[in-house]
Amino acid sequence: MVAVENVRKAFRGPHGEVAALSTANLRVERGEFVVIRGPSGSGKTTLLLAIGGMQRPSAGRIMVEETDIYALGEKERSRFRAEKIGFVFQMFHLVPYLNTLENVLMARTGGDRGRQARKAGELLDRLGLSGRTYHRPAELSAGERQRTAVARAMFNRPPLILADEPTGNLDPENATEVFEHLATYNKQGATVIVVTHGGTAEPYADRVIHLRDGLLER
Ligand code: ADP
Ligand code: MG
Repeated sequence: MVAVENVRKAFRGPHGEVAALSTANLRVERGEFVVIRGPSGSGKTTLLLAIGGMQRPSAGRIMVEETDIYALGEKERSRFRAEKIGFVFQMFHLVPYLNTLENVLMARTGGDRGRQARKAGELLDRLGLSGRTYHRPAELSAGERQRTAVARAMFNRPPLILADEPTGNLDPENATEVFEHLATYNKQGATVIVVTHGGTAEPYADRVIHLRDGLLER
């Protein structure tokens, strides 16, 4: 499903190069729920953005479903991303002036808007948000915001969901709820990769991998 092959990422700064990721190798099979755990600054976000086609590595190759994603052109890659990958971020990344339904519909890649809106409504129902359909993010609790982001990530039924510290701003109860939704989605056949510095995701994981100073450990 996902293959990270000899991936390195360095950032050039005023004081020289910072190696965020040093020669990462990782294979994730279809249907796995993988947690990558590491302290702040260990390269988790860098790795996840690279896997998600959002940040080109300095070296190495990333395959998602047999596609070398950085060999695609910019437009093809963004299309591939929209269809195949759902993202969940720590800070939710919702559009502040759109309501819950419209935020979920941001993931829409085409098709009949009425039908898609019904589909989004059903998804909101399943995530316990049917009473929040027309609220804007500022009118939602943190847990509701993140469930909206989860609904958006699931909208196109992508085979892969990537989550970067998805419960970093949530209390334990809401964190559990978010992980339960990701776990349910995973049990329907999707692959889920969560990067986090804490241990709350671990009970849901088939496999936990540690990341330290830009290096993956078994
Ligand atoms: P984590 O998500 O585990 O906290 P990151 O992947 O964000 O770690 O960062 C890993 C390292 O790379 C850090 O030292 C960070 O400062 C550096 N880094 C990340 N992104 C950038 C960037 N855009 N420019 C320069 N340095 C960066
Ligand atoms: Mg991070």
